[in-house]
Amino acid sequence: MKRALITGISGQDGSYLAEYLLGLGYEVWGFVRREAETMRWLEPVHHRIELVYGDLRDGESLAVGFQKAWPDEIYNLAGQVFVPTSWDFPAETFDINVGGLSRLLQIIERTKRDTRLYQASSSEMVGNWDGPCNEQTPLQPTSPYGISKLAAHRLVEVYQARGLFAVGGILFNHESPRRGPEMVTRKITRAAAWWVMGDRTKLKLGMLEARRDWGFAGDYVRAMHAMLQQPVPKNYVVGTGVSHSVKDFLEEVLVALKELGYGESAPKSIEEWVEIDPHFLRPGEIHDLQADATLARNELGWQPTVDFKGLVRMMVEADLAGGRERHAASTPQATSNRA
Ligand code: GDP
Repeated sequence: MKRALITGISGQDGSYLAEYLLGLGYEVWGFVRREAETMRWLEPVHHRIELVYGDLRDGESLAVGFQKAWPDEIYNLAGQVFVPTSWDFPAETFDINVGGLSRLLQIIERTKRDTRLYQASSSEMVGNWDGPCNEQTPLQPTSPYGISKLAAHRLVEVYQARGLFAVGGILFNHESPRRGPEMVTRKITRAAAWWVMGDRTKLKLGMLEARRDWGFAGDYVRAMHAMLQQPVPKNYVVGTGVSHSVKDFLEEVLVALKELGYGESAPKSIEEWVEIDPHFLRPGEIHDLQADATLARNELGWQPTVDFKGLVRMMVEADLAGGRERHAASTPQATSNRA
């Protein structure tokens, strides 16, 4: 039985990957900082995984976790992932995103050189580039986050050259009902559910014209695994190949609400619902990101199973269900029933 250690197992990608690897018969270990709120995504599989505790900034805790898990494969998914936070805490972003990886690579090199490592590289490394991006596209990041991901990506390449099996998956934006609420997609679908439940607070957003190649996270974890099963280590771009604007996302949410039978209680228009707040405009904004995943399609046999419309619908449905639960729990009737 193969053993996998996932850093960031309690997050969106980590939890989908844990489920996928368990399904393949892996023994799954997770490296976690603490019992975070997101541990709820692990609820269905919690009893089937082993957790080790520590912090990517603390090499000793990584070494102890590594010794216990003794993994054949490591998926380094933990990180400081939010671009605006990287402007507030650039040094911390580097310590986690670059320092954490360098500590892991050193442990592998010193103790178990045949452990294969997957590094969560990111389309934010690309910066502003016109048209689809492949593995050869020049990397010109525009934020401390993007630069930290690029530094980590280069670190993977120098350890590759030293004979380790380490790869960087250049994943374009991937979302799901488990996405953090600060990211724009989930921020929008949560707000849509609140509106339908009667909360008419305006949704404050930044640049509506920014475009991203949004796919479903559950699809992307299959690509991570496939990269570690290749005969030689290589970096791959993963994405749907189609980009949409934040405005397109908002419009698709309104369509989904109508199709799900919430037309009456949904916002009548984007203008009624959304307000532009300069606070959410970004220095170094990346205007459009679009993947060319030809190599992943040809060599990994990877393709997405959920399109843009399907993704929006899935996220809206999940937030509506969550909203209904919260609403039911806070009504006086529900309170008196519980009393
Ligand atoms: P990113 O691509 O990793 O930065 O993912 P995000 O979901 O944080 O942002 C995607 C795009 O949405 C970026 O171009 C943001 O500038 C844009 N955007 C517009 N308004 C907002 C907002 O209120 N929050 C976030 N997170 N992004 C916003």
